[in-house]
Amino acid sequence: MRRHYFLDEYCIIAAERGKRPTDFKHGGTLDRSDPKTCPFCPGNEELTPQAVAVYTEDGIHADGEERVKNWWARSFLNLYPAMTPSPKPPTKEWVADFARGFHEVIVESPDHESDPSKFGPLDLERLVSVYKDRYIHYISQEGVEYVSIFKNWGRVAGASLSHTHTQLVALPLVPPVLIREMEAITSAPRCPYCSLVEREATSDRLIFENEGFVLIAPFCSMVPYETWIIPKKHASDLEGLDSGDLAQVLGEVLRRLDRLLSGPPYNYTIRQLPDRRYHLNIRIQPAISTMAGFEKNTGIFINTVPPERAASELREV
Ligand SMILES: [Zn+2]
Ligand SMILES: [Zn+2]
Repeated sequence: MRRHYFLDEYCIIAAERGKRPTDFKHGGTLDRSDPKTCPFCPGNEELTPQAVAVYTEDGIHADGEERVKNWWARSFLNLYPAMTPSPKPPTKEWVADFARGFHEVIVESPDHESDPSKFGPLDLERLVSVYKDRYIHYISQEGVEYVSIFKNWGRVAGASLSHTHTQLVALPLVPPVLIREMEAITSAPRCPYCSLVEREATSDRLIFENEGFVLIAPFCSMVPYETWIIPKKHASDLEGLDSGDLAQVLGEVLRRLDRLLSGPPYNYTIRQLPDRRYHLNIRIQPAISTMAGFEKNTGIFINTVPPERAASELREV
C-alpha cells in the first residue's frame, strides 16, 4: 500500500493482485433511448430551449422561433439548470447566496448512436473548438469566475440522456478545490504541472504524447485507470491551446479506455482558470469504482490499480 499525493489531493494505492481490466464490472453505456423522442436528435430541436449557439457548415448561428437545422453541434441552456442567470431570492437562512450563473448543454453530434470513443479526427477537432468557443464566451462575462466543462458518459457516470453531450456551468465563484490548488501552486517554487510534465515524460506513467500534450496515469490516481491530459507548454486555459493536438490526445485516451475496459462509463472534466499561473489539465475518470464511506469521510481515495500498471495496459491496448 502506498500513499500518493499531488498538490492537495491524496489517494491510497492498494493494488489488488491479479485484478484484470475485465474484472471491473460496469453496466456499460448501452441503455440507448429512442431517437424519435430524444430531445438532442435532429428534428426534435423544439424539445429543447432555443440554442444560443448552433454550429453548422456555414458558421455559428442562434435559434430564433424557427430552429436552425443541419447542425453538427448545438448548445442551449439546460432545462433543469444547476445555475440560472436570474435566480429567485433564497428562501431559507441556510442559503447563503444566489445560484447565479449559466448551465448549458452542448450536443456535440447530431448522430443519436455516436460514441465519442469512435469519433474521427474532424469530430474531435470540432468538439474541442466548441469547448473553446463556449469557454471564451462565458469567461469574458461580468460576474463569471469559473467555467466548468465536463462530460458524463453513461448513466452510472451521471448522464441522464444517452445521446452524447457535454455540460458547461458558468459560476460566479472559483470553486474551493481550485482555490486550494492555486494556493499550492503559488507557494511552489515553479509550476507543479510544468514539473510534472517534465518528470512524467520519461516515467512509466506516460501513456501517449504528441507535440503539444502528454497523456499520463497520474501518480495520485484517485480511481482505477484515471488519466490526465496536460499541455507541455504552460497554458492556463483553452484559449491559448492548439485544438488539433488536444483533439488527437483526447481521441487516443477515449479509444484506449474503450478497448481496455469494454466501453466503460466515465467522466472527463476540464480544469482551467483565466489566471496565467494556472496550468490547464483534463482529468478522465472511468466510473468503474464506487465512492464509499471512507472516501466520503476523508476525501482520500483508495485505488486498487497502481498508475504504472494502468499506464502500461493503456499503452499496450
Ligand atoms: Zn438523440
Ligand atoms: Zn505550468
